[in-house]
Amino acid sequence: MRSLIGRTDGACRGNPGPASIGVALYDASRDGSDRPDALPDATISAAIGTTTNNVAEWKAVISAIELAAELGASELRLLLDSKLVVEQLNGRWRVRDAKLAPLCDEARARLERFTTWSASHVPREQNGQADALANEGLDRALRGGPAWVVRRPDDVARSRGTLDRAVDGAVGGAEVLEADGAATRLTLLGTGASRGVPRVGCRCEVCLSKDARNQRLRSSLLLEWRDPETETSCAVVIDPGMDLRQQALRVGLQRLDGALITHIHVDHTGGIDELRAYTDAQEAVMEVGAGPETCVELMRRWEYAFDGRTAPGHGIPALRLVEARPHVQIRSRTFEAIPLVHGRRPAHGWRSGGVAYLTDVSSVAPSSRERLKGLDTLIISALRDLPHPTHQTVEEALAVIAALEPRRAILTHLDHDLDYQELSARLPDGVLAGFDGLVVEVPAR
Ligand SMILES: [Zn+2]
Ligand SMILES: [Zn+2]
Ligand SMILES: [Zn+2]
Repeated sequence: MRSLIGRTDGACRGNPGPASIGVALYDASRDGSDRPDALPDATISAAIGTTTNNVAEWKAVISAIELAAELGASELRLLLDSKLVVEQLNGRWRVRDAKLAPLCDEARARLERFTTWSASHVPREQNGQADALANEGLDRALRGGPAWVVRRPDDVARSRGTLDRAVDGAVGGAEVLEADGAATRLTLLGTGASRGVPRVGCRCEVCLSKDARNQRLRSSLLLEWRDPETETSCAVVIDPGMDLRQQALRVGLQRLDGALITHIHVDHTGGIDELRAYTDAQEAVMEVGAGPETCVELMRRWEYAFDGRTAPGHGIPALRLVEARPHVQIRSRTFEAIPLVHGRRPAHGWRSGGVAYLTDVSSVAPSSRERLKGLDTLIISALRDLPHPTHQTVEEALAVIAALEPRRAILTHLDHDLDYQELSARLPDGVLAGFDGLVVEVPAR
């Protein structure tokens, strides 16, 4: 990659306070790589100890330049949301602060080694990815996780579809996160309610928002892990919904070993026909797991795909239904179907090891709560603040989280009533607002 675009951000809780940096680098030769919602080719998410916001901003810029150089770039275009840093980098404004001057000098000296470079100002709302990386780093470190997480292009490419090794830490006294390869990687493919956000035709503030984290495809989760026996990587999608094709393209999902369904609603099943891409490419019948009532519904609606009469590669997805009793096995991994209340519709969440995915929840019965103890990561739906007949509110979701006590919880299936920033700001420690493309790693145990 000769030419890179870099977006950076510094974060600080208090000023000075615990601080972190986020860096996202994009191959400039790719179409749309300058768009705020483009997928980064390399990232840094790192906690840098207690310092000021300005120091964090500069450290983020320096780390971006370092990583770009390491990746062999000769051109670097920095898009920064700090007007101050942009003006000082360009030498138009003087750096008065004695602590910042050496950082500015260092950044400029490193930039001189590029054939060409530029730094320009972008509005804050276009810097959502770097901001999210910075906050991810701080949250992770505050919870006792590794300070530095760097993803390089090979890691990113491998993690999409194969998960050979997705995460390492190498910059500045780095630690290694879950390097045994047995970790689970979760990608939130979509975090929106049934109509998605923005809703077609809606002119509300969230639907018109430029913040990429307010743009939500229909809710879906990708779960990737490594099979320790065969040393191969595995991937399962929970809810092949209406946006599956777009989501698969967005994360570069190369192969899929199975699908799990939470319930029959079309926002969670509308992409079943898209599974054909994988049954064709892999020349294999794909197993699709669901609860008993949902299996009956699936067979009724997608009989042509599930009846076993058409081999892979003949124009329809070649699928086999697997009823959860209550478990479904996909390659080396067991998934347990957990009954949920979703209005009057039979629905299930899925648990596997320390991960549980509970969407379209109106409530969780005590017998199901018993099966959700000791979670590392709980992904759970929270539609909006106003009560709804078939979905829990943010407050109700927080009450379930407080009762189940996972190490970390992420909210999903969010409607256009909820602005990402506003929601994030009021969530308790250990609870994150989900957004499309959010990746989290769960340690093996
Ligand atoms: Zn739904
Ligand atoms: Zn709206
Ligand atoms: Zn539903």
